[in-house]
Amino acid sequence: MVQVEPLEEGEQPQLATRTEGNTNEAFHPNLYQMAPERVPALHLNLPFILDDLKTETSQKQLSTARSIMKSVDQPFLPPLDKATHVEFLLSPLDEGLSGGFVGLDASRPWLLYWCINALSLLGKDVGIYNDRAVSSLKPLQHPSGGFGGGNGQAPHVAAAYASILTLAITSYYASIGLPEDERLAVYADSFAWIDRGKLLQWLRKIKLPNGGFKVNEGGEEDVRAGYCALVVLALLGYDDEDLRGDLSRGELPLLDGVAEYFKSCQTWEGGIGAKPNAEAHGGYAFCVLAALCLLGDPEEALSKTLDLNRLISWLSARQYAPEGGFSGRTNKLVDGCYSTWVGGCWSLVEAAANAIESGKKSTKMNVGDLWSRKALIRYILTCCQGPRGGLRDKPGIRPDYYHSNYVLLGLSAAQHYYYYDDVSVQSPVLTKSPFRHGYRWKSSKNVPKPTGHDGTGGGWLEGLVSEESDRVGVQHPLFNIPLGAEGQLQSWWEWFNDVGDVDALSSEN
Ligand SMILES: [Zn+2]
Repeated sequence: MVQVEPLEEGEQPQLATRTEGNTNEAFHPNLYQMAPERVPALHLNLPFILDDLKTETSQKQLSTARSIMKSVDQPFLPPLDKATHVEFLLSPLDEGLSGGFVGLDASRPWLLYWCINALSLLGKDVGIYNDRAVSSLKPLQHPSGGFGGGNGQAPHVAAAYASILTLAITSYYASIGLPEDERLAVYADSFAWIDRGKLLQWLRKIKLPNGGFKVNEGGEEDVRAGYCALVVLALLGYDDEDLRGDLSRGELPLLDGVAEYFKSCQTWEGGIGAKPNAEAHGGYAFCVLAALCLLGDPEEALSKTLDLNRLISWLSARQYAPEGGFSGRTNKLVDGCYSTWVGGCWSLVEAAANAIESGKKSTKMNVGDLWSRKALIRYILTCCQGPRGGLRDKPGIRPDYYHSNYVLLGLSAAQHYYYYDDVSVQSPVLTKSPFRHGYRWKSSKNVPKPTGHDGTGGGWLEGLVSEESDRVGVQHPLFNIPLGAEGQLQSWWEWFNDVGDVDALSSEN
């Protein structure tokens, strides 16, 4: 059995002040110069085998690879320029968005989530935004349940997902270090106004008889909807009984057929499509893997439901050389946001393959690192940092808030090792939750190297972080919020279900 150390369960985020002021001083270029790492030849040359058939796609692939080879070829890996990225991400929160963003009026919760989560990854205390997050998201709750993307808009499951994630992050930060009653008051202000009964009724309306979900009433069916619905249910403290439904009212168990539906979305390539018979795609793959891991321990949930070998083969083909980054689909270009959608899959697949569970005897060997973390880190640091702040798809493309969040989240996946701990302490609420498995994840700064059946090998991967100031925060590998925020939210629901006297707590009353 492999021991991972040091454990960082529920690690409190580092409320860094180093992102304020002239933080370039915090970077120590000399250290980089002392320990330069040569760029591997794989990243400085075109692949040995190139497609003879010239198409628009193959030409684009070739020109992208050539341009990225130039960016990657640097004697010293550039530092993560946290200060300018923080500035980029604070601007919409502190100064507001320009008129050009009017087209994103239906994505208000997303804009909040992307900026706030990215700032938390960069070490900023985002608790100061909790009150504003609540006042921005409250009007999006629809009278018939669920959340719209903008004021007065019809409910959409992605809007509910991004809203709940945002509140989970800001309330977590806002309550750090507070005495118990004040911590509960923060959560009361952030969550007690959500009509969980109506939200559940609304989710029943978008559940399909085939086990899938639609994104909204009359909207499209895809696995994003299923993932978003499960995350919302998992974070809002519903239990088995809530989800079972009332048969006398014609309600069916909400999770019926969900895992089978996800299984039916695995394609001939081994990846996962938006729905049955659709093309395999990194974003949908992450949604399915994370949703399955909410329903069971990763080893069982993934290997029983999916053809894991074919999935690993397809995931491996997503990381390109010379680029080092991931593409989302076969014959597509690398793109920084797949650092999360594909990199996040690797965290879950490795946890499933290694089955590292403290307290449970495992005779399995450790498969170690199944993807090139160093290559992804190199791609992110050399190609995805906008010179004036923000993270981006690739060189030549402007940074945006979406890519900032998902590039940084992918960097977190590359810098940390996530594993499932079967013996985590369970709260009474969680023992009745079908999503209890989602609350047993831990992280380690140490990424294990493979061990053989005879116990040979092992040790830890080195050089993933040249300097600690390049490290980003630890995220929950299923929820994509800071690791620990999910547990704090769960303990609020425990109190709410037990005591529930919100009026005595809430600072609004
Ligand atoms: Zn992208």
